[in-house]
Amino acid sequence: MVTIKFWGVRGSTPCANSENMGYGGNTTCVQICSPNLHELLILDCGTGIRNLGNQLIDHEDSLTGNIFLSHPHWDHLQGFAFFKPFYHPKGKFKVHLPPQEGMSCNEILQGHFSNTFFPVTLDMLSAELSCSSIEEGTHTFEGYRVQMMWGRHTIPTGIFKIHIEGKTIVFAPDNELPHDESQESEAYLEQFKSFIHGADVLIHDAQYNFEEYQSRIGWGHSNWEKVLEVTRESQIKKVYFTHHDPDHSDDYLKQRSDQIHQMAGTYNQAVELARDGMTVEIS
Ligand SMILES: [Zn+2]
Ligand SMILES: [Zn+2]
Repeated sequence: MVTIKFWGVRGSTPCANSENMGYGGNTTCVQICSPNLHELLILDCGTGIRNLGNQLIDHEDSLTGNIFLSHPHWDHLQGFAFFKPFYHPKGKFKVHLPPQEGMSCNEILQGHFSNTFFPVTLDMLSAELSCSSIEEGTHTFEGYRVQMMWGRHTIPTGIFKIHIEGKTIVFAPDNELPHDESQESEAYLEQFKSFIHGADVLIHDAQYNFEEYQSRIGWGHSNWEKVLEVTRESQIKKVYFTHHDPDHSDDYLKQRSDQIHQMAGTYNQAVELARDGMTVEIS
């Protein structure tokens, strides 16, 4: 059975406030597991990856695997230096990042680990770490395939589709579904719809509601109403909304969840707000 573990579902910045603890304050990190998978499969390195690393070290589990980074914005990389398996001699990881303009994956990680920002540098890690670009298209790994398409965000950002044991999981934590009716936007939406069609699970950015979105057009994030509209005919078994705004309290998100369920019900869609620590089994 394929399982998805949400280790961080917050967008933009971690928020360690009591009013956020229900949905969680850690930024984006998702793990995909299966009993047949002998290596780790991790999506993004937000602060949630710290808890994953601690659990792996405590259980002395496998410390090798692949990490797919949608893009290098802080909130998706902030937990990187706090992932304990990187400090373990048995650790062996490959990091895959969509090509960024003017900087290699190594340069980006080295910058993140430079003395100015952090006391440990990349060459001080005990684990074997390699980093490479992942291009648009399909890539085969042991036990699964990863298909990448470009998302719409403020920097080059990947949307990953994981094909594993006959299931498909689409991961799009930062993606702005456009509202304008330009030819480019229409073409993008068609490509996106075809990419997600029939997926078992879609994990998608829904940071704003329609009203909030009006003053944030071009910031690279979606509003939940648009995500429902675009995905309603895509025959997706379950949609998980993620990248919750750090200023949205549990009470607020609970209210929003009720509104979402109401609208999703009229479209006959199964939708849920992702929570920190949530485990989802795909049957
Ligand atoms: Zn983000
Ligand atoms: Zn971002």
